[in-house]
Formats: sequence, C-alpha cells, structure tokens
Amino acid sequence: MNAALQQLAHVTALVGRDPLLTQGAGGNTSLKIGDRLWVKASGAWMRDAEDREIFAQASAGEFTAALRSGAPGSVEAVAQAGAASGALRPSIEAVLHAIMPQSAVIHAHAINSVVCSVLADWKDRFRAAAQRLGVRARCAPYLKPGAVLAAAIAKDNAAHGAPDVILLQNHGLLVGAPTPAAALDLLLAVERALAFPVRALSAQEGAEAPPEGFELDSDHAGVACDPELCAAITQAPLTPDQVVFVGGAPCAAPRAASVARIVQRAAAATGIAPALAYVPGLGALRRRGLTEGQRAQCVALFEVARRAPVGARIVGLTQDQASELVNWDAEKFRRAADESRV
Ligand SMILES: [Zn+2]
Repeated sequence: MNAALQQLAHVTALVGRDPLLTQGAGGNTSLKIGDRLWVKASGAWMRDAEDREIFAQASAGEFTAALRSGAPGSVEAVAQAGAASGALRPSIEAVLHAIMPQSAVIHAHAINSVVCSVLADWKDRFRAAAQRLGVRARCAPYLKPGAVLAAAIAKDNAAHGAPDVILLQNHGLLVGAPTPAAALDLLLAVERALAFPVRALSAQEGAEAPPEGFELDSDHAGVACDPELCAAITQAPLTPDQVVFVGGAPCAAPRAASVARIVQRAAAATGIAPALAYVPGLGALRRRGLTEGQRAQCVALFEVARRAPVGARIVGLTQDQASELVNWDAEKFRRAADESRV
C-alpha cells in the first residue's frame, strides 16, 4: 500500500479508537492524491481502518463540479458512481472533503469541539482558541450535513480563502493539512485549546426501578439530577448523529413508570424511538438492546453534557433541522448499516 494511504489508515484508526474524538460510524477522514479522493465509506467505523478496507474512492473534481452545478441530486450521483459495482459508498460528508484544498482532511465529532459548537457564544469561544493556536479558523453555522453544508463552505472558501480549521455549529470540527499526521496534530491542538473542564455530576441514590425494556443509565442519571443541564439536554437534540442514531433528545418523564408510554409517543411523532429518557431529579433510563453505535452516541452525549460550562446557554437543533435528518435516505442507510453491524 502507498505510504500516504497507510498513514491515512493509521491516523483514521487512532481517531476512531478514541471515544472523545469520534463515536461509532461518525466522523471521517480523507486523502487526495491528484484528483483521486480516498474517503471513509458511509457506515464504516474509523477505528476499523487498519483491519479492513473502509475507504471509498471518488473523483474530487467531479464532486466539486457537481456541487458547483447546483443540480439537485448531482452530488449524490457522484457518490453513487463511486459505489458502483459493489464498491464502498463514500460518506455523506465526502463532498465536504472534496472541496477543501488540503490533501488530508479530518472531520471529527470531537467532544470539546462539539461542546463549543452547541453553546450560544460558540463563535467567540472558538475564535479565541484559534487565535491562541495561531491557526486560520472559521465558524460555519449549522446546515444539513452533505451537499448543503459543503456548498456553503465552498462559497466561503472562494470568498475568503480556505482556513485550516472550521467549527461546524451543532456538529463538530473540520481540519485540513498537507498530511494525515499533520491534520491529526491540528485536531488534537484544537481540542486541547478548547478543553472544557469536566463537571462532577452526582445522581441521587435509590432511583426508581426501570420498567420493562429499559435499564438504568448511571452516567446520564447525573445529568438528569442537575436541573439546569437536565432542562437543556431534554429540550432539543444537540447534533445530527444524536437524531439519527438515538432518536433525538432524551424524553423527560415525571416517573420511571411512564417512560415507555412517553418514548412510544415520541417515536410515533418522529419515526425513531429515543434511546434515553430522564426522570428529572431522579435518574435516567436507556432502552435495552441498543447497538454499539447507539451506546457510543449515548456516551458522547454524556461527555458533552458534563463539559457544558455552568451557566452557559446550550442551543440544540430546531424541530425542522431534526426532522430533515430523520427522513433522509442517506441517513437511513447509515442507520441500517449500524443495525446490521456485527
Ligand atoms: Zn459529521
């Protein structure tokens, strides 16, 4: 294997094995050699990069041209062509990698970046961190991942030049560098510069017994017992992967006994059953039988919640932003891949 691709696989696996950098099938890496774009396949896990083939191939130029044409479905057509004859299908976010000028790009749902990206004052916090690091940085307001987000970033790149790091609101981080190793260094430096202290959250003793189909979640119990955090986290989902894999924000139920009914009602409204439910002030429950990918998302939400600064306002996705993810074919593919993963 080409040494650059080997480095890509190694860096990808390092990021994928750290739950504070990426979770489950989330996040992706890429490398451009000439026009050829090697990019993580949709539904693949970054941590598997050194154990099996997880990279799909596509033409970076075709992605860019499709995006520029603005024709509906043209970006998806390039991704589909990449997946022709049974090959891997490029990630939903492949086009975002294609339009960045750097050879190596990492997109990660890194926890400190995600925390920053969900705070009302995210831009000020991120700019201050980038300034301390001395990197070219930009903030990208939330847009649906994929072609819509990539088009906005391509437009900003054309107008202002491409930065080294972009914080994607309610989503994560995008970094570009000449090599995968340099991109990883940059990602880690941004995470260190943002580094939100971890709060000690304590749950009440003697939570109510979980109803059938649910089990206690001792991590989230601490969040459910902090009135300010509980209100913010049950208010709205924070990121697209939270919507796609765990059915959005945890439900709030007055008692453990009413959780099943409340989860069912939420599932009827959105088409996905929430994996988590909080009983404010008492504890938290999660559905039994979650996939490894869903568990990883639950842990990520906990890691984000316990780093939210006291008193800082958390801003989640709107109802419309969440609904457009649930019924999106590309996301249904990722969800199906998670359910069939062995
Ligand atoms: Zn993402």
